[in-house]
Amino acid sequence: MTNQDLINIATEFGTPVYVYDAESIKEQYGKLKNSFSDNTRFFYACKALTNINILKYVNQLGADLDCVSINEVKLGLKAGFEPERILFTPNCVDLAEIEEAMAHKVHINIDNISILEQFGNKYGNSYPIFIRVNPHIYAGGNHKISTGHIDSKFGISIHQMRHIERVMKSTNILVEGLHMHTGSEIKDADVFLQGLEIMFELSEHFPDLKYIDMGSGFKVPYQKDDMETDVQTLGKKVEKVFTSFLKESGKDLQLWFEPGKYLVSKSGHFLVKANVIKQTTATVFVGVNSGFNHLIRPMFYDSYHIIENLSNPNGPERIYTVVGNICETDTFAWDRKINEVRETDIIVFRNAGAYGYEMSSNFNSRLKPAEVFYIDGKAHLIRKRDEFEDLLKNQIEVL
Ligand SMILES: *Cc1c(COP(=O)(O)O)cnc(C)c1O
Repeated sequence: MTNQDLINIATEFGTPVYVYDAESIKEQYGKLKNSFSDNTRFFYACKALTNINILKYVNQLGADLDCVSINEVKLGLKAGFEPERILFTPNCVDLAEIEEAMAHKVHINIDNISILEQFGNKYGNSYPIFIRVNPHIYAGGNHKISTGHIDSKFGISIHQMRHIERVMKSTNILVEGLHMHTGSEIKDADVFLQGLEIMFELSEHFPDLKYIDMGSGFKVPYQKDDMETDVQTLGKKVEKVFTSFLKESGKDLQLWFEPGKYLVSKSGHFLVKANVIKQTTATVFVGVNSGFNHLIRPMFYDSYHIIENLSNPNGPERIYTVVGNICETDTFAWDRKINEVRETDIIVFRNAGAYGYEMSSNFNSRLKPAEVFYIDGKAHLIRKRDEFEDLLKNQIEVL
């Protein structure tokens, strides 16, 4: 997909608009698939981007699905994933939500001892489950996206193994999978190997184990000289230790991963329009027709997105601070070199496929953007822009 394609899309569908390039998702999936053996499965962590068309496309590519809410499970089923290819990994949900997922026959991952006990007392070994452990590996690009640390709410601490075993013994639960997800944007691939060693040790406690799920942490480059997780090298290292463990232990296990942003981040281009160029004594602001109501990652995670001016690609570079139109400080980027921006120019945020639209809101009573899917040389509108009526849709007027 070229910049001209993006400009055409902005002209046809208006801004702000999220654009997803199918080819990029395919390429990312291919890189993973080719780096590991056929005994490895990839469950797309769909909270990154759940438009039904993306789910269907990922399904076509052959990936499986990781869901964190019952509604993601339902979306996945609707997109055509068979229950056996869906893993439900919720956090702090009640037993009722887990039971709803059981009714859909998907794999279920339990991440606290309270629910494990409730589940075991009621269902015993009649429905196999996964257990999410917290290995206490500190990894991830930002505290908010690190899930393995000691204060994290995710998973059951590996130091509570005795407790897990007591529950297993007293309720007879059948554990078919062990899961960990230590964080997002792990720079050092050896963290996965460290995690695997822990899983191997833990596996001794689970005689019915079939699956080891290492979660995600695959990093994508956001800045120009940023790195992407080298999945080829990782694949080689992982396959080596995994196959030798299977040989030594005599176990027959499948290895799972749950890439989210690795699959969809790069595919996403968020297009906005420069509304206002505002020069103050110290700064030149570009005020765009969007804000953290549409793309919150820079404000929430201090994330960096490359920003380019599609309308004036050869203009002289100037230093800008790019802000939104929300009545709150919503700075997308400080002191960025961008080709001269004029009012009405189309501006693009790169790498906006993951946790972009998905985290958007109607703050300031602004409308959520449209979404466009670019596949086989054609742009398809896959979500209409909100309309004013949508703001009132669920409100009940009592006065
Ligand atoms: C969010 C999440 C992922 C995906 O993380 P990325 O950084 O987007 O790859 C995988 N597994 C679980 C359980 C998650 O919650």
